Amino acid sequence: MAADEIISGVYGISMGFVNAFLIKADEGLVLVDSGLPKRKDTILKAVAGVAGQPADLRHILVTHHHVDHIGSLADLKEASDAKSYVHPADTPIVRGDQPQPGANRTSLLGKLAGPLLERLSPAAVAAAVDVEVEDGQELPIGGGVKVVHTPGHTPGHVSYLLPGRGGVLFVGDAAANILRLGMPVGVFTADREQAKESIRKLAGLEFDIACFGHGRVLKGEANLRFRRLAEKLAR
Ligand SMILES: [Zn+2]
Ligand SMILES: [Zn+2]
Repeated sequence: MAADEIISGVYGISMGFVNAFLIKADEGLVLVDSGLPKRKDTILKAVAGVAGQPADLRHILVTHHHVDHIGSLADLKEASDAKSYVHPADTPIVRGDQPQPGANRTSLLGKLAGPLLERLSPAAVAAAVDVEVEDGQELPIGGGVKVVHTPGHTPGHVSYLLPGRGGVLFVGDAAANILRLGMPVGVFTADREQAKESIRKLAGLEFDIACFGHGRVLKGEANLRFRRLAEKLAR
């Protein structure tokens, strides 16, 4: 599967219901999230289309510990030697030291279908964490990718803001843009109130493009859409 160019140097890898992204940086290729387990070949094909060799993949920025975002992390690290970046609150689950939490039973769907959804979810594959990131940190990648801690969906959820090009925000699952821009899927969101607060935090940033774990890319003054959503959630 080829990568779609979103804007110069930023590419989307659509894998059914979940997306990953590639950034061409001076420090080598940067991947944001790694899809479900067994997606290594799909992602490396996209890497080949953009850069050439698996070894060109140098950094893997992880938004959160869910299996559709870390599934192929271990395989990709083995194939490429890339460094992984995770927030410390999600590290124990990425490393496999703690089990993946189940569906949120306080949501209606979680109450009705939690056990079924958990059975259908693929087992997580543990992966090493090389760099623990914190809120406000500027990574020495891509001209200073900024870490934005956006807890709620998971405790250690982070979004990443790429400077330049008007600002490109990698939202992860802090919000989704499936039918329209909205909250992340409730059944897999640990704390809805905290997730709303994180959307407010993102709405205060400057970015022109927003890339989501689930749903379509928003192009052009994407932060204004987040501001409208934040206002709606406050009502
Ligand atoms: Zn998630
Ligand atoms: Zn997800």
